[in-house]
Amino acid sequence: MKYIDEEIIFGLLDQARNAGSSKVRAILDKAKSLKRLSLSETAVLLAAQDKKILGEIFQAASFVKDTIYGRRIVLFAPLYISNLCSNNCLYCAFKSDNALTKRKALNTEEIKSQVKWLLERGHKRILLVSGEAPGVNSVDYYCDAVKAIYSVSVGPHRIKRVNVNCAPLSIEEFKKLKSAGIGTYQLFQETYHDKTYREAHPKGPKSDPDNRIDAIGRAFRAGIDDIGIGVLYGLYDWQFETLAMLSHVEHLEKEFNVGPHTISVPRIEEAAGVEFTKNLPYKVRDDDFKKIVAVLRLSVPYTGMILSTRETPQMRDELFSLGISQVSAESRTSPGGYSSEDNNRNNDIQFTLGDQRTLEEVIGSLIGQEFIPSFCAACYRKERTGEAFMNLARPGTIKGKCNINALITLKEYLDDFASESTKIKGYQLIRHASSGLDDESRKQLERFFNDIDKGIRDEFV
Ligand code: SAM
Ligand code: SF4
Repeated sequence: MKYIDEEIIFGLLDQARNAGSSKVRAILDKAKSLKRLSLSETAVLLAAQDKKILGEIFQAASFVKDTIYGRRIVLFAPLYISNLCSNNCLYCAFKSDNALTKRKALNTEEIKSQVKWLLERGHKRILLVSGEAPGVNSVDYYCDAVKAIYSVSVGPHRIKRVNVNCAPLSIEEFKKLKSAGIGTYQLFQETYHDKTYREAHPKGPKSDPDNRIDAIGRAFRAGIDDIGIGVLYGLYDWQFETLAMLSHVEHLEKEFNVGPHTISVPRIEEAAGVEFTKNLPYKVRDDDFKKIVAVLRLSVPYTGMILSTRETPQMRDELFSLGISQVSAESRTSPGGYSSEDNNRNNDIQFTLGDQRTLEEVIGSLIGQEFIPSFCAACYRKERTGEAFMNLARPGTIKGKCNINALITLKEYLDDFASESTKIKGYQLIRHASSGLDDESRKQLERFFNDIDKGIRDEFV
């Protein structure tokens, strides 16, 4: 696979096994000064096994998370527009030879009714997801879907940002997608281990690992500068995958001056009609998964980290403090799932969900843990993306804006969508959080809150 030197990665993991605790602590000190870690330093953290040292890694990750991101957690919902797929990825319910999956590509009206359902519950950010079916799930289909999503309004509410997770495109196609107004383009390499990649993707356009890894560069070249990458944990050894993904990040930083905007950490879940997911040779244990998130937080402190509803509420709660900055909520992983009466049908969902709570339940739980649920999309709308975003994030300039924007969006959510009990807890959290702001920011926030009381929506800094 291009850009990934397996020998170097295995070598770094081997060397890391002999590192003593003083070395680990020196690396943690560096990480706590918010500096990016090298691959060899990251390998040392990944190899750590001692319980006390692991505790120190988790503490350092919490410190970095809190210093850079504060208590904000950004919320979004995936919107599956099509499960038509010509690939046969061994792990996915949408694979072409899975006869159990009912196939469906939503039309524009169906997409709009899904979006209406999401807006009525308070969602503001969507991740558009699609299978790969050349000629059917085309770039024009994706662009029409993005435009349809932005066109829907429910009262004063609209979707603010549409991110896209679809199969690799050409530069020209990526340009079209960008001009439709997408936020992040997200594409998971699934596994960075060449042999495993080829075995897991036996047919269809996805069988070429180089086309997939090169798609990230094509997206950058087309001008999409917020890119999301990820590993599908459970296909191969998690230590190798994590270090290889970080070597991909290094490659992107060298070539494009900026790394990915986000990293996703999906773990393989069981999927209907998919034998492969029942017996995973490299299934990632919960404690190793926590280590992955903590080490990624330390290694690339300014890269957002996304967690989906594949994980259980308990696991999600633990990972918020260790590094996760964005989560999905109330997800359905089938085209049309949001308007369905029967949410438990499983003949067209992509995989089993660990967290089935409603958006309001997720928000209530975040508030209970003093996290600030945020629907902010200000950076993208103010063109603070890619390198420009990183230049603001590194000196901490962006944090003040994020805090204000998160509180604005939380008040809007509480006023317009929440039940009385969530409102009481939420307003209390807002009072507490605003008391920690400097005078100028507090006054600015008060002005925004007055506007919200007057019915004005969607202001941001
Ligand atoms: N079809 C496009 C692709 O493969 O890149 C994009 C959409 S695909 C539906 C999104 C992601 O779902 C894949 O990249 C894969 O990582 C993940 N996925 C597939 N099967 C899964 C499973 N059984 N459990 C968890 N995640 C899965
Ligand atoms: Fe198709 Fe994507 Fe599923 Fe593979 S992971 S079968 S490409 S939808």
